[in-house]
Amino acid sequence: MTLTNTRVLISGASVAGPVLAYWLRRHGFEVTVVERTPVLRKGLGGHAVDLFGPSVDVVEWMGLLPQVLAARTRTELLSFERPGRRPIEVDFSRLVAGISERHVEIMRGELAAILHEATRRDVTYMFGDSIRTLDQNGDGDGVDVTFEHAAPRTFDLVIGADGLHSNVRRLTFGDESRFRHYIGGYFAVFTLPNYLGLDRRMLIYNAPGKIAAMYPVRQTGEARAGFLFRRAEEFDYDHRDIQQQERLLRQVYAGEGWEVPRMLAELEHAPDLYFDSISQIRMQSWSNGRVTLVGDAGYCPGPAVGGGTTIAVVGAYVLAGELRDAGGDHAGGFANYENELREFVRRGLGIGPASMRTLIPRTRSQVWLAPQLMRLVPRLPTAVQRKLASLQAGPARALESIDLKRYEPVR
Ligand SMILES: Cc1cc2nc3c(=O)[nH]c(=O)nc-3n(C[C@H](O)[C@H](O)[C@H](O)COP(=O)(O)OP(=O)(O)OC[C@H]3O[C@@H](n4cnc5c(N)ncnc54)[C@H](O)[C@@H]3O)c2cc1C
Repeated sequence: MTLTNTRVLISGASVAGPVLAYWLRRHGFEVTVVERTPVLRKGLGGHAVDLFGPSVDVVEWMGLLPQVLAARTRTELLSFERPGRRPIEVDFSRLVAGISERHVEIMRGELAAILHEATRRDVTYMFGDSIRTLDQNGDGDGVDVTFEHAAPRTFDLVIGADGLHSNVRRLTFGDESRFRHYIGGYFAVFTLPNYLGLDRRMLIYNAPGKIAAMYPVRQTGEARAGFLFRRAEEFDYDHRDIQQQERLLRQVYAGEGWEVPRMLAELEHAPDLYFDSISQIRMQSWSNGRVTLVGDAGYCPGPAVGGGTTIAVVGAYVLAGELRDAGGDHAGGFANYENELREFVRRGLGIGPASMRTLIPRTRSQVWLAPQLMRLVPRLPTAVQRKLASLQAGPARALESIDLKRYEPVR
């Protein structure tokens, strides 16, 4: 098998999938991407995500940094709301500068659209479909794939970039419950009108054990409401029952002040409630035969708390590069991918539990203290900020902890 006739199927066209497709194509592979959603999520859909350090390098090497910077959210201020008192305002860019010198916040839909545009001419995209079965037990020369809609095909390699609840992982490694680890909280996000006229400002309301937040989505007249709360035990609920999830959210935030009642009232009209546990995926190995996993599918550090986008971009870049360096030997390429990335992922998976310990205040006094401390940090000299970041948010430094190789493209 040579690179140019290696047929790769990627499941998932969000972040890891298109980054992987881009680099595999550039290294000479033949790439098909299957995505469950019928159309690409519109540019400004989804939630805000973060690119830190090495993932910004990868985007730059793809020639996409100008587009990504142009699409960034431009959040400038975090405003900690205190009912009845003046909010405490914190300079957002100076706050993240304590973690990384290179950071871009962008809506996930915008990032996915830029990545799709950069790959769509060279990569075959199949929207509105999903893998039904994977069989690598035939003649050993490939993976026989059946789809929900398209005709069956055989690929040399299949890669799951299909997120926390990965279909490829389930089909290849077994039930999600074997790999998913709950880390003690829930996250919800939905669209509502930007009725406060927010511009470049995220509002945050803290209460013991819970946070509510709102931020605008540029040029749309929309905002996103986000809710993050602690909970020792997982809820027992039906993942397909949106009304049940709405009820759970309302129960948890019942009686809270500030804009919370209005935000919850808007939930009734929200087209896109996302409600999920904050869970990580932890696996001994991401590969099995001709199948491997990348991004949240293999090593999700926890939605909203863990730097998942940075890890997904870096993982996709390294996987493509190691497959290229292995010159068509997928077993060697997969093994080197795991070796290169394992320590970075191990550190990355430390971020979520640490964020859960510090991000959501537990008591009334922590609710008071947290923004006061945040306000101080950006005023300190950069060296001291970095020191504090490494002590306080130590695991966040993990996102800078990989020296990426420059894999030379074949063409
Ligand atoms: C609400 C929320 C808030 C977040 N906030 C942040 C943040 O602030 N900062 C940050 O860095 N990260 C954040 N994250 C995490 C970030 O979104 C992920 O880590 C990142 O998107 C991982 O990219 P991925 O491509 O691996 O997976 P995903 O982005 O999850 O993409 C998976 C793709 O696979 C597709 N798919 C799923 N099943 C199938 C199937 N059966 N067949 C075909 N396709 C399928 C999905 O439609 C999707 O397009 C957040 C996540 C969530 C959910």
